[in-house]
Amino acid sequence: MIQIKNSGQIALMREAGRITGEALIVARDHIREGVSTKYLDTLIRQHIEGRGAKPSFLGLYGFPGSACISINDEVIHGIPSEHRVLHEGDIVKIDVGAFYQGYHGDSARTFAVGRVSDEAAALIAATKQSFYEGLAAMQVGNRIGDIGHAIESYVKGFGFSAVRKYVGHGVGRAVHEAPDVPNYGTPGRGPRLCEGMVLAIEPMINQGTFEVRELSDGWTVKTADGALSAHYENTVALTSDGVINLTEVEIGE
Ligand code: MG
Ligand code: MG
Repeated sequence: MIQIKNSGQIALMREAGRITGEALIVARDHIREGVSTKYLDTLIRQHIEGRGAKPSFLGLYGFPGSACISINDEVIHGIPSEHRVLHEGDIVKIDVGAFYQGYHGDSARTFAVGRVSDEAAALIAATKQSFYEGLAAMQVGNRIGDIGHAIESYVKGFGFSAVRKYVGHGVGRAVHEAPDVPNYGTPGRGPRLCEGMVLAIEPMINQGTFEVRELSDGWTVKTADGALSAHYENTVALTSDGVINLTEVEIGE
């Protein structure tokens, strides 16, 4: 069932969203060659806990980290490790959530480590813009399929593909609520969008095919063809004043 939030609940979610966004800034400010993904995860956890919140993902379905940190052809759900070290030219996806006063925020960004290839930069930029294409379709009376259609048709124009096996979702008292928000879809199909819906819109965009595979660690998801993947996510609320981006922070890419 889709949980509709009132304005008071959305105000609380704004705080959870702010802490989530700040955690991404902390990570961004420490991304450089030689840094381990475990180090970034520790900084993220310290930030979230320092703000009186809890990392949404720590222990979620048994996940061992506070953030999912995925490099290059890893799509999502990378496990932070002291043995995974960033290298010049990598692209690193950080997906983080904060639970505060009963509500979650959920947000992800893809960062470049030093100088990256033109192809990698183009993928990161198109993934970010595809989020905004999807967001523009988040209007009362539209349907979930309009969001996914906007995302997928935008990235197809670059020859990229939207991951199908993993999708966006509702956000609230649980980090993953109904409805699913696929990054593909048919216009005019799916649940109708209405005031009080809070969604994580999160395009996961592959340079090559949309096929993915899960590694034997039980978590990490990679592109099946070994090509790069990028991720961009915000938690957004549909209100009588329009859309509010609850996790928006000034963060660059
Ligand atoms: Mg996320
Ligand atoms: Mg999410």
